[in-house]
Amino acid sequence: MTKSMNPKKTPPLKKALVADWPALKRTFIRPEDDAARSTLIKYMEQILFGLHDFLKTHVGFTEAVSLKDLADRFTDSLISQNPEKKLADVITDLIEDIAPHAVNVASPYFIGHMTSAIPFFMVHLKTIVTALNQNVVKIETSKVVSVVEKQVLAKIHRLIYRESDTFYTEHIQSTHTTLGCFTENGTLSNLTALWVARNTRFSPKNGFGGVEKEGLQAAYEAYGIERSVILVSKRGHYSLDKSGGLLGIGNRNIVAVDVDEKNRIDLTALENTIHTFKKSPKKTAILAVVGIAGTTETGSVDPLSNLGDICAENRIHFHVDAAWGGPTLVSEKYRHLLAGIEGADSVTIDGHKQFYMPMSCGMIYFKDPTIMDSVIYHSNYVNRPTSVDLGIKSPSGSREANSLILDSALKIMGSRGYALLIDHGIETARKFADEIEKRPDFQLVTPPELNILTYRLCPLNLKNKLGQGDAEEVAQINEKLNTLNRTVQRLQREAGNSFVSRTTLSSATWPGQDMVVLRAVIMNPMTTIEILREILDEQEAIHKNRLA
Ligand SMILES: *Cc1c(COP(=O)(O)O)cnc(C)c1O
Repeated sequence: MTKSMNPKKTPPLKKALVADWPALKRTFIRPEDDAARSTLIKYMEQILFGLHDFLKTHVGFTEAVSLKDLADRFTDSLISQNPEKKLADVITDLIEDIAPHAVNVASPYFIGHMTSAIPFFMVHLKTIVTALNQNVVKIETSKVVSVVEKQVLAKIHRLIYRESDTFYTEHIQSTHTTLGCFTENGTLSNLTALWVARNTRFSPKNGFGGVEKEGLQAAYEAYGIERSVILVSKRGHYSLDKSGGLLGIGNRNIVAVDVDEKNRIDLTALENTIHTFKKSPKKTAILAVVGIAGTTETGSVDPLSNLGDICAENRIHFHVDAAWGGPTLVSEKYRHLLAGIEGADSVTIDGHKQFYMPMSCGMIYFKDPTIMDSVIYHSNYVNRPTSVDLGIKSPSGSREANSLILDSALKIMGSRGYALLIDHGIETARKFADEIEKRPDFQLVTPPELNILTYRLCPLNLKNKLGQGDAEEVAQINEKLNTLNRTVQRLQREAGNSFVSRTTLSSATWPGQDMVVLRAVIMNPMTTIEILREILDEQEAIHKNRLA
């Protein structure tokens, strides 16, 4: 028996559904008569507007039904032999039974994560991509889409690197060079950047076929190396650790460098680390230094210009993880916050974050249009040498045509349209920071550089004690505050009116002490300072009424 979540919706004793050729054919053939057509249109309407209503009424990850209860409803491991439901019923179930228990990431009160509302036209664009079902791995299954992809790669590359017209004329549709590639997400983009960095460092030379071909041990022998490391600040995203594992250098060798009081990589600490590795008796290759343009936890931007200089001086691959902050470049007003990004050898940008694309779209860009030759792959039936096939230089095989979505979105929005979103996020985050500082029972922990900030509830009496106490007293108070903030965050989430996330940061003022902080990501254009005040009011109320 299937455990339907809504058994009353199953039509009573209708003709049983069977899997047979006539039924199967109907699902592959385009509807010929008007009745069939209008049914399909009705379904699309249901998706657009049925879900729209849901998105207006539900907020966040509520406790209305617990995850445990939900899990108990999904314990069926048998695939039914005959069809269980018709399309119409499946859509109704998804809208009525599943959607209400999903998370309304589109709510302007949902400010906890990097996932938010998307413009409604994204649903249309995603539908077209699905209907065309192009496979960008090769030209034979995508044709024009592959050249559209090269065009949009050039547009974003130009946003980052601002090369000359001549440069883009030469490379935009060149079949020999690559300005970057689309991936599934930021994790794979970072992996691709470091894969290229590793292969460039251990490239083929007299008798050695290159690390990609011969593996790490042979590479170490050929280059007289015993260890490889990648340097990134303590605020680095954990996808870099995964890369360490996947690339075979070990994630212990993703070395975390200290940050300054603004959560930016400490340049002195970085230079010391580089120096130590260079002098180390164990011969060490520094494959890359990673700068972060918008750390996931605090939205801080590393000093990219300085990092570029340090890398150039030491001949190290300079990667910038701009998965979050990259689109800030469209804003005339705030692009200076990413100054120095043009010095990066590679840059990660996520489409599903601040380009407001549907899940999921990652991108990786390279300054040198030939550097991806170090990860080139051919096969006899596709991806022949010098073909336009995008699968030649890409970690992915089959892949959807995300470039169609981004290229269209850029046309619909214009860079100014996107800049409005970016500016709103940064400016609203600043107002939010001011509001937090005005309230006696809150403490701003990391002011927003972009549109992310962290803060915590810190009742006035404890705040005063923090200022006077010795390290041990302060540690006790911080422990108390950590429990308080954990509880408030959970209770607010469970109440389901709004959602703010939380993370733990090491204190800049008291070394060795951890602080639980509330984290706000302001990306929804409908999130206003009034809404943010309401969220603070609610946190105050939870504290006063339930905890104080
Ligand atoms: C989100 C993020 C990533 C990972 O991206 P996914 O798309 O979630 O894989 C990497 N780095 C930073 C700085 C990010 O914000």
